[in-house]
Amino acid sequence: MKPASQHITACRRCHAPICWALTTANGKRQPVDAQPSEEGNLAVTQGADGLLYVRSLTKAHPEPRPSEWRAMPHHATCPSPPPPRRSSGGGRRATSGAVRPVPWQR
Ligand SMILES: [Zn+2]
Repeated sequence: MKPASQHITACRRCHAPICWALTTANGKRQPVDAQPSEEGNLAVTQGADGLLYVRSLTKAHPEPRPSEWRAMPHHATCPSPPPPRRSSGGGRRATSGAVRPVPWQR
């Protein structure tokens, strides 16, 4: 599987082809590389609603389903990622429960 052409857009920063997908974990929009990658640690699929959904592949379930393709988060490949966000108030900590990205293992 590959992203359909209508899902592909250009990164605002580096103009690489990317897709916006919603994370199955929390419904946030996440840019993923439009080009499927064997090295990627994400599984992307098009939902019945026509939107793209992305989930992290885990050691327990390292293989994408037949309807999914493996992709790299664009943050990992973008040559000019957004600057770290300085929280102005709120004081929400990102540390608790945050999952460290694990290097993909073949
Ligand atoms: Zn980019």
